[in-house]
Amino acid sequence: MLPDPSAAPAVMNGRPRPDAAGPAGGLTAAQQHTLEALLTLPEERRSFPDNLADALRARLEDDLSASSAVMKAAKTTFGKHDISTVLACEDHHLSSKNTFAWSVATARGTLAHKAIQLGSFGPLRGQPPSVLVGAAVTSYAEGWERPGELGHWLAEECSPSERSELEGEAADRVTKFQDSFPPLHSGWAPRVESPAKAELLDGNVVLRAKYDLALTLRRGDPSTTVIVDLKTGGFAPAHQDDLRFYALIETLRARVPPWRVATFDLDSATFVPEDINEGVLDAALARTVRGVILCAELWLDNREATRTPGPQCRWCELRLDCSVAQSFEQD
Ligand code: SF4
Repeated sequence: MLPDPSAAPAVMNGRPRPDAAGPAGGLTAAQQHTLEALLTLPEERRSFPDNLADALRARLEDDLSASSAVMKAAKTTFGKHDISTVLACEDHHLSSKNTFAWSVATARGTLAHKAIQLGSFGPLRGQPPSVLVGAAVTSYAEGWERPGELGHWLAEECSPSERSELEGEAADRVTKFQDSFPPLHSGWAPRVESPAKAELLDGNVVLRAKYDLALTLRRGDPSTTVIVDLKTGGFAPAHQDDLRFYALIETLRARVPPWRVATFDLDSATFVPEDINEGVLDAALARTVRGVILCAELWLDNREATRTPGPQCRWCELRLDCSVAQSFEQD
C-alpha cells in the first residue's frame, strides 16, 4: 500500500521531513534512503549564465546545420534510443528500428510506467499494484483498433499466458517502485511518463524524450528538478548518456538545467545519480550532434551502414550472419 495520500510532503525545503508519513507511520528503509540520497538537495541555489539555453540551442543548430543530411530533415524526430543505438552499431540500429514488435519484454516497462502514473494521481492513488496494472491495461485498450499500438497487441495478438506473464511482471515493477520510492507528493509537481521535446532548425529537427519520472523538489524552481529513469536488470554506461540527453532537452525546455538525473534500478533499489553542470551538458550536446548526424545520413541520405561490435551483439538479430561480431568474439 502507498502511504496516506493526504500526508504532508516527505520533504520540506529540500530536506527530508523526519516524521514523513508512510504506510506504517513512516517511510520504509528503502524509501528513506531514496529520499535522503536522491531527493534531498543542498540548501544553496546554483547559478548558470542567463543565456545558457540560448547558447546551447545556437551551438546545436550550428553543428547540425553543417551536415547536408541533417538539412534534409523535415519535422524529423530523434530520440534517445535512436542516438544510443546508432552510436553503438549503425546496422543494428537500422535493423532494430524496422523490426520493433510488442512482446512481454517490450511491453512490461510501458505498462508498469502507466500503472505508476495512474497510482500517483487521482482516484487510483494508493491502490495496490495489481489494480493499477489492470487499470493500465484498460487505458491502453482504447487504442485496440490501431495496428502497431500496445492496445492492439493486447487485444488482438497477446495470448492469455502472455497476458498473465505481462501483468505479473508489470505488477512486480510497480511493487518495487512503491516499496523503494517515497510517495510522490503533489508539492513536487510529479511528472510521470512525461513527454518533452526541443525543436531545432525551424522545427525540422525534433529532439524528443519521455521522462519516466520528473520531480521539481522546490515549488516553482525548475533548477531543482530531478529526472529519473526506471530500469530493471542493473546499470549500463549508455544509461548515463541517455539521461544526459534528457538533461539537455530539459535545459532547452525549462531554460535552466535540472539539478540531477538518475538511473533507478528497481531490482536492487539502487540508483546512479549525476548532478548536471555545464560540462555534462557540453558532453550531451556533442554526443547528440554525432548521433543525429549519423541517423540523418542513414535515414535521409541512405548511406550504407557500418557494423561495430559491442555488447549489443548479444541481442542483435543480424548476429548469426555478422562476420564482424564473430571476429570480435574470437578476440
Ligand atoms: S552483430 Fe554486432 S556488429 Fe553485427 S550488426 Fe549486430 S550489433 Fe552490429
